[in-house]
Amino acid sequence: MQKDVGKFGISDKRGRVKTSSDPYIPEAALPEPAICGGCNALYRNRRWQIDAAAAEKASADSDVSHVTCPACRKIAERYAEGVITLSGNYLWNHEKEIRNILRNEENRAMAKNPLQRIIRMEREGDSLIIETTEEKLAEHLGRTLNRAHQGELSVTWSDQHSLCRVSWERDQ
Ligand SMILES: [Zn+2]
Repeated sequence: MQKDVGKFGISDKRGRVKTSSDPYIPEAALPEPAICGGCNALYRNRRWQIDAAAAEKASADSDVSHVTCPACRKIAERYAEGVITLSGNYLWNHEKEIRNILRNEENRAMAKNPLQRIIRMEREGDSLIIETTEEKLAEHLGRTLNRAHQGELSVTWSDQHSLCRVSWERDQ
């Protein structure tokens, strides 16, 4: 299924528990407050947030639960919902710049929703492969890159919208 039109923004869920089935989002609510030992994200009011001051304050609370957030679990287990494949000579001539764009966008996405992360970004043969914890982040990264460095972009969703595959190519 091809989805190549329309406006796309960073997930509007803003860290809230997803309604679609995601095996890493528990059905039962987590105890609150909870802090992720991996990334220090704080879970409160049924949402995850990156807030160092609030996390520090919550840490002092003896009722705080220490957990591993869904994003850190997906990263540890390499469970990707989004896969981006970049290729072409232009990519390798602008590799550093392109990697920076992707990392900056990841940081912006994380500030809004800490569950949106890059799992890995590695060269495989002539392609640069980026895996993401959430499918929408893959689409967002692909579209952001394509706005900055126009190439051939393709975004494909699985039928259940549980996996997003993005490919981008530019030769010169
Ligand atoms: Zn975490």
